[in-house]
Amino acid sequence: MLFGSRKITVIPGDGIGPEVTSAALKVIEATGVRIEAEIRPAGATVFARGIDSGVPPETIESIEKTKVVLKGPLETPIGHGNKSANVTLRTLFETFGNLRPVRELPGVKTPFTGRKLDIVIVRENVEDLYTGIEYMQTPGVAQALKIISRSGCEKIVELAFEFAVAAGRKRVHCATKANILKLTEGMLQHAFEDIAPNYPSIEAKHILIDNCAHQLAMRPEQFDVIVTTNMNGDILSDLTSGLTGGLGFAPSANIGSDVAIFEAVHGSAPDIAGKNIANPTAIILSAAMMLRHLGEGKAANDIEQAVLVTLESGVRTGDMPGFGKPISTTEFADLVIANLGKVSDTSAARTFEPVKLPPREKKVAAVKVEERKVTGLDVYIESTLQPKELGEELSARIEGTTFTLHAITNRGNTVYPVKERAVSLIDQYRCRFLSRDRNADVGDSEILALLTRIGESAQWMHVEKLQQFDEEDGFSRTAK
Ligand code: NAP
Repeated sequence: MLFGSRKITVIPGDGIGPEVTSAALKVIEATGVRIEAEIRPAGATVFARGIDSGVPPETIESIEKTKVVLKGPLETPIGHGNKSANVTLRTLFETFGNLRPVRELPGVKTPFTGRKLDIVIVRENVEDLYTGIEYMQTPGVAQALKIISRSGCEKIVELAFEFAVAAGRKRVHCATKANILKLTEGMLQHAFEDIAPNYPSIEAKHILIDNCAHQLAMRPEQFDVIVTTNMNGDILSDLTSGLTGGLGFAPSANIGSDVAIFEAVHGSAPDIAGKNIANPTAIILSAAMMLRHLGEGKAANDIEQAVLVTLESGVRTGDMPGFGKPISTTEFADLVIANLGKVSDTSAARTFEPVKLPPREKKVAAVKVEERKVTGLDVYIESTLQPKELGEELSARIEGTTFTLHAITNRGNTVYPVKERAVSLIDQYRCRFLSRDRNADVGDSEILALLTRIGESAQWMHVEKLQQFDEEDGFSRTAK
């Protein structure tokens, strides 16, 4: 048992959330496991109360105490609040890993039926573009920060391997875009390659994310566990849900060092809310994952087997293709309850060991280096000048400083000093200034003097120091 308590927090959520969550609670109750549920709000009703995070103090207090949450989907109302309540919960309780298992289910016909798909996406859950840090750099140019840390990569890779070991899986793929994003996506690849040798019984393979998407459509049965960054994982896991029957069947677990949040992958589906027609399978399977996490492996297996037996019997909910009359949310849950204790004809119960999780680190995560220096500066400038004019103007302006203008790029294309090329330009230029003395460590006073000079004629809005760590460039090169 990972966490001692059987008290859990239940967030019914929005739209179809209350219907499917109460179906899952009925199923849990029928297994005989005694769970004490604290029902707490989050999402639309909380935004309407004027709480910008979508999560009120009473819900936070409950989760701090219980450490385990069964959560319905939360709507993010457009025009209210700064954040999604889901992102608030994930970041507040640092549930750094999102496990999204999908498998072929009996009676759920898809183009892949018969190929025995059984894939788990392990998605990093708190970094990447989902930190939601964005800026308007000019009135017409927006920027989002993709933040990836070595410690975040190590945690998610370890979770993927530990999960693979606990679940008796054979292979872990790490899917990245490291060929283009060498520093951010590349960091996950490097962490994966460094950690994989600690798990010699698991086959470890790196794959580029675009090829991974292609392979998932062509030969998905080759995949077992896939670990990936937040945005890539968001997209891939919806894709894998689609391969096996859709969102109505996809459970998930958000795992942190202290808190775990279990929820269906689907949203609040407002179009079918209140009609008692939503498919509750995803949240019922999420509840099984929660019970396993609480050390109730038998009850978890019983629920999974009962879901399989129910689907084998040929019933269908409205989201499943087929001809028979669809059954309701409550009828489906009642059938699962009636089938508790029965054994599936198509898939045996699985054995899981508890997943070993890293403890929460109190100290600030940092990678130590022997040597570091600043070799130059990238200054982002808003300008409608042509590159040649801007380059000549800046070069003249910085004469006498310790810097030279090395290059100007526009959307990644080097536009100065090169022959004019027929590229469409936007009014955001990245201007790279390097120290005239290539061995120097540039100080802040020199940087401020440079910015003052530039600011006399140009509008700069963003600056990045070009740093070297142990003689490795900590920045991407400008393209030739
Ligand atoms: P969605 O709620 O997942 O619904 C998309 C469609 O999928 C629904 O219209 C419905 O299709 C079908 N569907 C989803 N779950 C189903 C179920 N259990 N049974 C039967 N059909 C199901 O996605 P969305 O419309 O993009 O998002 C709606 C709201 O949910 C948004 O506010 C979004 O921010 C939020 N959301 C929350 C979470 C979360 O809390 N984790 C996740 C995703 C989205 P039909 O039209 O065919 O009936």
